[in-house]
Amino acid sequence: MIPFTYFISDLHLSAQRDDINQCLFTFLRDQAPQADALYVLGDLFEIWIGDDDENCFTLSIAKAFKTLRESGVPVYFIHGNRDFLIRQRFAKKAGFTLLPEQVVIDLYGVPTLIMHGDELCTKDTDYQAFRKKARSWWWPKIILSMPLSTRRKLAQKGRATSKQKQSMLSDEIMDVTPQEVTNQMQQFSVKRLIHGHTHRPAIHDLILNDQPAQRIVLGDWYEQGSILKVSEDGIDLTSMNL
Ligand code: MN
Repeated sequence: MIPFTYFISDLHLSAQRDDINQCLFTFLRDQAPQADALYVLGDLFEIWIGDDDENCFTLSIAKAFKTLRESGVPVYFIHGNRDFLIRQRFAKKAGFTLLPEQVVIDLYGVPTLIMHGDELCTKDTDYQAFRKKARSWWWPKIILSMPLSTRRKLAQKGRATSKQKQSMLSDEIMDVTPQEVTNQMQQFSVKRLIHGHTHRPAIHDLILNDQPAQRIVLGDWYEQGSILKVSEDGIDLTSMNL
């Protein structure tokens, strides 16, 4: 078998969608153990208000990942816009290695930039302002020092406002800004980018500095069960068709 690496993102797991959780358990048990590594590119959870918000559901997810990790498959995690408050305590339970927001990895000889992808949607200026605050050192500190019940209320309020706003934003705003894709890829000197967030699974062929380049977008799991497999031989973006 040719060595390969798996990428998943935007599972948006919650206790309410056990069908998706079961899909993940099956994937982690039957498919993932054959991989060199598994990368989770953010929005694993629908919402995350702190590692102290522990329950049967979060523990069952952590355990499934940890079992994979203990079988010898490294599991890397990049935060999404829903679960950016995941910290070392949960990471340890799940066997995750937390990565920075953007990182270049060597994928069978190809330097590849990986990220969640929300940073590419620069036309949503309100969201980018919130993102800047949410990723600062001080804002999470303040939020995480609040009691769980307060954080739960704040999260509910935040989701309601964001849902209302999303319905008013056009598709164009919610997708990536092509210029920002170019900027990021040039900044990191890569010809390949992998991200999620937009729920628009695709392999885009680009031209960057007169050379062929690629942007691979993972889909979500609510509708698509999107899995990306990368090996020396190429790229395979599939859907489990949930
Ligand atoms: Mn997202």
